[in-house]
Amino acid sequence: MNWDEFAAWGHRFTDWVRDYRQTVRDRPVRAQTRPGDILNALPTAPPDRPQDMREIFADFERIVMPGITHWQHPRFFAYFNANAAAPSVLAEFLIAAIAPQCMLWQTSPAATEMETRMMDWLRQSLGLPEGFTGVIQDSASSATLAAVLTLRERALNWTGNSRGLAGNSRIRVYCSAEVHTSVDRAIWVSGIGQENLVRVPIKGDWRGMDPAALDAAIRSDDAAGLTPAGVILCVGGTGTGATDPIDACLDVAQRHGLYSHVDAAWAGSAMICPEFRSYWTGIDRADSLVFNPHKWLGAQFDCAAHFLRNPEDLVRCLAIRPEYLKTHGQDGVVDYSEWSVPLGRRFRALKIWFLLRTYGLQGLRERLRDHVAWSGALHDRLAATPGFQIVTPPMLSLFTFRLAPEGAEDLDQLNQRLVDAINDDGRIYLTQTRIDDALVIRFQAGQFETTEADVMMAYDVITEIAGQIA
Ligand SMILES: *Cc1c(COP(=O)(O)O)cnc(C)c1O
Repeated sequence: MNWDEFAAWGHRFTDWVRDYRQTVRDRPVRAQTRPGDILNALPTAPPDRPQDMREIFADFERIVMPGITHWQHPRFFAYFNANAAAPSVLAEFLIAAIAPQCMLWQTSPAATEMETRMMDWLRQSLGLPEGFTGVIQDSASSATLAAVLTLRERALNWTGNSRGLAGNSRIRVYCSAEVHTSVDRAIWVSGIGQENLVRVPIKGDWRGMDPAALDAAIRSDDAAGLTPAGVILCVGGTGTGATDPIDACLDVAQRHGLYSHVDAAWAGSAMICPEFRSYWTGIDRADSLVFNPHKWLGAQFDCAAHFLRNPEDLVRCLAIRPEYLKTHGQDGVVDYSEWSVPLGRRFRALKIWFLLRTYGLQGLRERLRDHVAWSGALHDRLAATPGFQIVTPPMLSLFTFRLAPEGAEDLDQLNQRLVDAINDDGRIYLTQTRIDDALVIRFQAGQFETTEADVMMAYDVITEIAGQIA
């Protein structure tokens, strides 16, 4: 393909994207294909001879699109939205074409310096104090892994990377049962081991960690000769929005000299609104925290903002400097690959720059506030509807509920049937979760272009389909 052909197709694709995004509401949100449909439509062997883009693109529409679950559908109320606001898509387009590798300052100074500035813009946007500096990771999972490796090395007096873990007393890490599975994986990969991830009991409406129980768990491990090393807290857990009392938990963690990491992958975006910051009071004292601008804030995936109070610890843990990676004669520059597990890095800061400038914090705040208000209104309507039960209260724009008509027997089965029927219907998309062994339905609003009418349509669909299956 030459670059003139590229430009012609680029224009066509841009028009296609406009049409797609303007009409995506008319499509079923969740893909309606069966397992194997797409696989079977794809030739089993690669082409020997060049094929025309017209053919490739026609196949893309015919084979691929039916198997897409439309994450940018305004009635995508499942999981947490991974938004892709228009200006961030444009930034990604430029990045895809320029394709710089941003591992070192010298491999694209603009990427590094833009990242430094954007992380500070985000810090200010979230109301974090000046002491925090940050790096953009590919995912919250990577940030959490980096934090766990750091707390491991700190607890081992920086000897784990060279000597391994054998011969040391067991390192202990504390979290509640509500944290994301990325925490478990980080514990596995770091060699700490699942048995040393201590699940601290939760209490209260927010399903947050009980600080007294955290204190007791640390003391008991200390007494048993184990090595308490860190605590991982969550603000806005995936299932129900579980939120640990950050202030009280950090009191305990710091009293015992533990490293602390806060996972606010979803809820962190909401902190651009000062009125939501009470959900993470005390955050100023965390050692590390992560939030995903690629979720609620609107930046195209991937983009995870990782803030640190002492980046020196992270760099000490992860920096590796063979001769070819040294930046000679450029003292004082940042090489962000020393802050993350992968070496290669995409230029992710550009889409933050485009996004924040296009909407301003004001425009982004308005969206998030609307989502929270509309989700709250839906919650109120469902709470007042006979046969429905609210299971967990709204945490920002997320709440859980279930259908529980009088006399119904197997509520788990009934609610699974309801979710499946709703998703087969296609007008909205919801997922289920488990709370204390009960199957419940999650609702969250956060798509960049969702409207009040979209959220209210969820009420009509849920009650209509519940009426049909009950
Ligand atoms: C989405 C999410 C994650 C995982 O994020 P990735 O960027 O996909 O790794 C972790 N924790 C919470 C609370 C999340 O919502």
